[in-house]
Amino acid sequence: MQKILLVEDEASIARFVELELGHEGYEVVKAEDGREGLRLAGEGGFDLVLLDVMLPGINGLEVLRRLRKDSDVPVILLTARDAVMDKVSGLDMGADDYVTKPFSIEELLARIRALLRKQGRQGSAPMALGPLEMDVARHTVTAEGQPVELTGREFSLLQALMENPGIVLSRETLMDRVWGYDFVGETNLVDVYIRYLRAKIGEKTDRRLIQTVRGVGYVLREEDTP
Ligand code: CA
Repeated sequence: MQKILLVEDEASIARFVELELGHEGYEVVKAEDGREGLRLAGEGGFDLVLLDVMLPGINGLEVLRRLRKDSDVPVILLTARDAVMDKVSGLDMGADDYVTKPFSIEELLARIRALLRKQGRQGSAPMALGPLEMDVARHTVTAEGQPVELTGREFSLLQALMENPGIVLSRETLMDRVWGYDFVGETNLVDVYIRYLRAKIGEKTDRRLIQTVRGVGYVLREEDTP
C-alpha cells in the first residue's frame, strides 16, 4: 500500500483528502503543522507528501526546504489561488508539483498518480556491498538477505556510505549529507548514529562493514582491515 503524508492544518480539508485517498487505496498519515510534518517525514517510508503552504509555525515552504536536505520524496504543494510566488518558490525549492486550492479531488488524484508513476520509473537499481543491499527507491535495506529496519536518518547515513564504497567520509561530510549544512550540532551525532547502524546491521551479519578511520571518519568496505 502506498503511503502518503498529508501536512494540512485545516481539519475539514485534511479529513476530506484522507477519506478520498483512503477510498483510492492509499494509506494516509496526517500532520497538523509543519513541525509535526517534518518529524514524520524524517522517519521516512512515505511514497509522497502533500504539503500545504499556509501552515502555522513553520510554513510549508520552510518545511520543504528542510525536507529536501535529506529526502527526495515526491512533494505536491497545496497553494492558495493566486499565490504565484509560492508556486515559483516551491518549485525552485524542489517541489515536484502543486495544486491550487480549492482543488477537485480528481485533479489531486491525477497529480498523485502521475508523480508516483514517474517515481516508479526512476527507481534506481539497488546498491550492494558484501552482504548489504540497499534499495533507495523502496527504502529497504537487507543484510544477508534479512531486512534491517532503519530510521530515516540511519538510512540516509548508510546511503551516504554505500554510495561511496571504500572512500573514507569525514564526520563533517556525513553531517552535511544527513543533517544538512546549517544544522547546528555536535559532529559526535555521527558517531552515535554509526553505533545505531552497526548494532542493527550487526544483528544480521558478523562482517564488520562500517569501519572507523581514526581521526578522519568512516568508510564502508568489504574487506576487514586492521
Ligand atoms: Ca493552511
